[in-house]
Amino acid sequence: MTSSAGLNFQLLRCHRRKRIALQVKNKDIIVKAPYDVPLQYIENLVVLKKQWIENIQSKQQLAIRYQNQLSRHGQVWFFGKLTPLIIKEGKRSLVAVENNQIVVTLSTRKTLSDTTESLRIKKLLEGWFKEQAELILTDKVTCVSRQTNLLPKNLHIRQYKSRWGCCDNRGHIKLNYLLMMLPESVIDYVIIHELCHLKFLNHSVDFWNLVESFLPDYRAEKRWLKEHQHYLTWTTY
Ligand SMILES: [Zn+2]
Repeated sequence: MTSSAGLNFQLLRCHRRKRIALQVKNKDIIVKAPYDVPLQYIENLVVLKKQWIENIQSKQQLAIRYQNQLSRHGQVWFFGKLTPLIIKEGKRSLVAVENNQIVVTLSTRKTLSDTTESLRIKKLLEGWFKEQAELILTDKVTCVSRQTNLLPKNLHIRQYKSRWGCCDNRGHIKLNYLLMMLPESVIDYVIIHELCHLKFLNHSVDFWNLVESFLPDYRAEKRWLKEHQHYLTWTTY
């Protein structure tokens, strides 16, 4: 460990490396450098990059506070709120909501490593979120379809990596089950957005006017989604 202007960093010298690389992982600062770069040069570089390093560290701290934490005393986004996660042991694995907390019961009696336990919690929560999404999103789409008179041919709920929903030219609508992490008003916005694509398969002015006619305040929901979407994913160790 080397120190420069109050910043401790780990220096890794690599034979094949041609350039210096700086990595920040929470409190750890790692510098990878070729053998022929003098230590003084590297220390000066770290000092020069102090502000940049601190900016990354504060962003990473914020992300830790707002992301799902699938561990004992962790937290999960559910209907737009970071909901406390309680882990218990029991005869049967199950997930339930009790007193505004998500309670995950693990059936094992063996002590698991943090990583294995985190993966088991993730698997149980994924299954439970999918079940909830199937019920709640289907019901919501039916309800919003009736109000807007925009009827999809069919509805599929599944996992997507980078989209909340989509609509194709056959009138099929697909929704991401992770919508269960969003506030209800934002879920409604996503559903209205996809239903409006049944009339306009683009993001034209006519499309947005149609969205606005059903949801005058849609911009606020869109903003919420933009500000939070990088936290709305499963995170394990
Ligand atoms: Zn769209």
